[in-house]
Amino acid sequence: MNLFNVYPLFDIEIAKGIGCRTYDNHGIEYLDLYGGHAVISVGHSHPYYVQKLTHQIENLVFYSNSVINKLQVELAEKLGKMSGYEDYSLFLINSGAEANENALKLASFHTGRRKVIAFDKSFHGRTSAAVRVTDNPKIVAPINEGFEVDFLPLNDIEAVRKSLSKGDVCAVIIEGVQGVGGIRTPENKFLQELSEACKAAGTVLILDEVQSGYGRSGKFFAHQHAGIRPDLITVAKGMGNGFPIGGVLISPMFEASHGMLGTTFGGSHLACTAAIAVLDIIKVEHLVENAEKIGNYLIEELSKIHQIKEIRGLGLMIGIEFEQPVKEIRNRLLFEKKIFTGASGTNTIRLLPPLCLSKSDADIFLTSFKEILQSV
Ligand code: PMP
Repeated sequence: MNLFNVYPLFDIEIAKGIGCRTYDNHGIEYLDLYGGHAVISVGHSHPYYVQKLTHQIENLVFYSNSVINKLQVELAEKLGKMSGYEDYSLFLINSGAEANENALKLASFHTGRRKVIAFDKSFHGRTSAAVRVTDNPKIVAPINEGFEVDFLPLNDIEAVRKSLSKGDVCAVIIEGVQGVGGIRTPENKFLQELSEACKAAGTVLILDEVQSGYGRSGKFFAHQHAGIRPDLITVAKGMGNGFPIGGVLISPMFEASHGMLGTTFGGSHLACTAAIAVLDIIKVEHLVENAEKIGNYLIEELSKIHQIKEIRGLGLMIGIEFEQPVKEIRNRLLFEKKIFTGASGTNTIRLLPPLCLSKSDADIFLTSFKEILQSV
């Protein structure tokens, strides 16, 4: 059987990973500045993470929604404490799209409404409802047309107020920092006014922190830079450091009822073990602080390079926009300098390294990047 191949692939096979480095099947080392789309948060094959998962897989791999799983309770407690959302509750699933899918469903149960506000260049996943609120790339199959979506410009509070004024909006969904759309951070003032406007309209505010969360922005969640408290927060990616797990943090205004949401794999013993280990490592190794420090350093140094059109970012979530397509620069970084980067659209390089990136690794990237830019 062939693969149903929807991705363009580099001819490289990655066989091993340690910290911020990966190795291909010939043993060639690559610096990883993309972390598998922000999935690798605490570093490849972190020894504590490996030890915890190994012990769990030897002991028990189990899925049940009808008996107690104390690891879920421990994860919720730790996540609440570290994120500052101790009074919220946690629903566990397996991915970012699933987290947004469940958040939209909760919002619609709660309000009885079916219209959603999303933003230009947004990305929220590829399941049926998540893709419907995604602007970039826009992929709407006939089956997705079930609910109405108003795509508005980011940071345009008047457009939001106008759309909310009809009183029929179920939810506003917004990324903490837009990732796929090119690393675009909503202004703090906009988020504060958005939060107030949603409260006044009885609309649920969903913060998608799937890419920007888990310390990457220099705070546990990117929206915390604006000091707001959304009604629902969605997480995935870095939550499991490579083990699939996602979650919805749910404010106390929502009431759980039997059968309203469900999953087979979500919140398994293995997934919770991975997610607890990630939180332990983030705390002990001060990775949120490191993301802020190294992120600021990279942004400052990159801002000095004159060929770059614009640097955008928060912490270790950085967009480097050029006037021209970045394909050649990225390919040369990969094949000549052995450095993995990502892209947003055609003209922006996207950096989402593991949160443990050191200053010396940041310097290796900066030196290599400048060398390549001299000859493109
Ligand atoms: N939300 C955001 C902000 C994302 O960046 C992504 C993935 N790129 C998703 C949701 C979807 O996550 P997943 O691929 O785990 O479904």
